[in-house]
Amino acid sequence: MTSVLDTLDNFEGDIVEPGAADYESARRAVLTVGSPAYVLRPAGVGDVRAAVRFAASSGLPLAVRGGGHSFPGFATNDGGLVIDLSRLSAVSLGGGSLVRVGGGATWGAVADALDPHGLAISSGDTRSVGVGGLTLSGGIGWKVRKHGLALDSLVGAEVVTADGSVLRADATENPSLFWALRGGGGNFGVVTAFEFEAQPTTAVHHGKLSFPATSAAAVLQGWATYMRGAPEELTAIATLANPFAGGPDAPVEIHLMFDGDDPSAAATAIDPIRRLAPLLTDDVTLKPYGSVLEAGMTPPPGIRLVTRSAFIAPASVSAALAHLVEAAASGKSPFLAIRTVGGAVSRVADDATAYPHRKAELLVVATTLGPDPVIAAATPALNAFWHRLAPHTMGAYANFLSSSTEVDVAAVYPPNTYRRLATAKRQYDPSNLFAANHNVRPQ
Ligand SMILES: Cc1cc2nc3c(=O)[nH]c(=O)nc-3n(C[C@H](O)[C@H](O)[C@H](O)COP(=O)(O)OP(=O)(O)OC[C@H]3O[C@@H](n4cnc5c(N)ncnc54)[C@H](O)[C@@H]3O)c2cc1C
Repeated sequence: MTSVLDTLDNFEGDIVEPGAADYESARRAVLTVGSPAYVLRPAGVGDVRAAVRFAASSGLPLAVRGGGHSFPGFATNDGGLVIDLSRLSAVSLGGGSLVRVGGGATWGAVADALDPHGLAISSGDTRSVGVGGLTLSGGIGWKVRKHGLALDSLVGAEVVTADGSVLRADATENPSLFWALRGGGGNFGVVTAFEFEAQPTTAVHHGKLSFPATSAAAVLQGWATYMRGAPEELTAIATLANPFAGGPDAPVEIHLMFDGDDPSAAATAIDPIRRLAPLLTDDVTLKPYGSVLEAGMTPPPGIRLVTRSAFIAPASVSAALAHLVEAAASGKSPFLAIRTVGGAVSRVADDATAYPHRKAELLVVATTLGPDPVIAAATPALNAFWHRLAPHTMGAYANFLSSSTEVDVAAVYPPNTYRRLATAKRQYDPSNLFAANHNVRPQ
């Protein structure tokens, strides 16, 4: 009897179908459970080519899975095909600081491989997050003000495009593809290997300062003003209304990392934040950079996360923070995290890559979590909150959006960026095979 899989030529990786022993785990992404018809785990680039050709000829919806962490659940689907890159996870150092990373590697594996060499790549804050998804849409982590986004460290990529070709993309070879990969998400093909220029790292100062909720306005406004001129080694995330720590009464927390091992330089950089209000806790200590990354976790079954994000320009910081503080105290606020960007990110031209939000000073991420009825009950307040915040924000960060509507896509890609991406899409994926992402339609 013939099977649709007969068209999958010389495939040496794993093929997981419903009923197989590991189908249960294969169909699960970190935040979503799907029911794909096939999960293919390529063992090499040849397998990725075969899988992409199979996807194109079968007409099945296609999901490409890197680390499986996307909030909208792009890494799985119902009834379609998943190309799971988890077997392409090698991390190897070339000469000097050049690092080749498999398309299915996680940032924890990268940190573990580089730490013994005194190297790191500016990435995110969680070990289990995939190099693929995080890099292709940005990458905002603890080294972002000093070394830029993860995609700013990318110097080349090996990509299997929709017709099954294997292309190199870098500044001189297929430069329009290289431009599009740095911000355009999974729209342009399967990246089988990323090449990064790593940065030297030492141990770092990392931890959390917490202050009473009643001092939220003074702490946030003072923190944002200070961060504008603070050493770029310092990166911070402020949190408000943490539902696990008292919601409206939760302490205001400033999570921070000073990218250096000199205690007096760290104290000079951090002390102005310590002095913003009476401290409740301070656990900043010196530790290896790799240990700063959190392990990551899968939410319990039935718990959903709804995440929205928006950038804040320098001129809007004060008004936006005032709004966030007021919302946090109301008891109806989502969990709020405000990340510093700026620094090295803002020194790259808006159009140098397909990540256009270079001039933003802060990124706000709002998360509501719970079972479906809790999410449904919270949604009107969330929408109203977001509507009131909108005049003070601009754009959105694709990696912290749990939906992918046209409004979301327009917030991620302003018109000039979108037009250029759509042109590249026409060249590299004219039939929109790679559509499980913040999708750019071929122009
Ligand atoms: C717990 C947690 C912590 C996070 N922390 C941070 C953070 O600190 N900073 C930050 O910037 N973001 C962070 N994120 C957001 C994260 O960057 C996104 O969720 C991102 O999409 C995850 O990438 P992934 O490869 O794990 O996910 P996936 O769901 O596997 O992939 C996401 C998208 O990228 C595509 N893709 C992935 N790999 C490839 C590849 N090799 N080739 C082509 N397409 C590919 C997929 O098709 C999909 O469209 C966090 C998310 C979570 C859940």
